[in-house]
Amino acid sequence: MRRAACVHAVSSPAPREWRCRPRLAVRRGPGSLRGVRVLVVEDERRLAAAVRRGLSAEGFAVDLAHNGEDGLHAAREGGYDAVVLDLMLPKISGYKVCQQLRAEQNWVPILILSAKDGEYDLADGLDLGADDYLTKPFSYVVLAARLRALLRRGAAPRPAQLQAGDLTLDPATRQVRRGGADIDLTAREFAVLEYLMRRPGQVVAKTELLEHVWDAYDSLDLNVVEVYAGYLRRKIDVPFGRNALQTVRGAGYRLAADGG
Ligand code: CA
Repeated sequence: MRRAACVHAVSSPAPREWRCRPRLAVRRGPGSLRGVRVLVVEDERRLAAAVRRGLSAEGFAVDLAHNGEDGLHAAREGGYDAVVLDLMLPKISGYKVCQQLRAEQNWVPILILSAKDGEYDLADGLDLGADDYLTKPFSYVVLAARLRALLRRGAAPRPAQLQAGDLTLDPATRQVRRGGADIDLTAREFAVLEYLMRRPGQVVAKTELLEHVWDAYDSLDLNVVEVYAGYLRRKIDVPFGRNALQTVRGAGYRLAADGG
């Protein structure tokens, strides 16, 4: 059995559903998903079984875990190309599973699959390091397409906390720090910095910032972006003698990837 080693890696006996099933050779031809293995963590067993059937029909090999604890153990084994994660789960919530995996530097792509009115906001899941989400009810075709998109991106490090040199921004706690020092930002300043820090080293046009951060492309003057860039510099750069927020004349702004 190819994945026999994983038997020894788990501390408690693994539920049969996700225990060392051999990789399946599935779907032939262009766009083949041969050997792509997905862990589905879902406590509603009928739904879990339906998701397995739906994804299997789309060419995925699917294993199931029915609570957060089993899901976390299985995901830690590292044999999965992606994880589909419910949020409201017995033992450990999906929210905590996601947070824990990322804290352990496990970058397996995670797609949250949850009811819109769940206890936890889906946005919180994304802030904790999930890659995408889909709300129930959903279509298997869409779920499969989203998973394929995640698989194309792969399991590269995607820390939940954004970093540029010694400048860090945590979208979940809304904390910004330079070195060891906390920096207080207003909501708008935070939003501008977050947008730039998600694109380190890239030139971002003022109009793009206006459109995404102010959500009001037509009604506001571009000067407002310049004003906020000034506010930000006085908080993240000037007190530290740095130059992270750079003006690219005639184009926009760039946040230095090394923190300036
Ligand atoms: Ca649930």
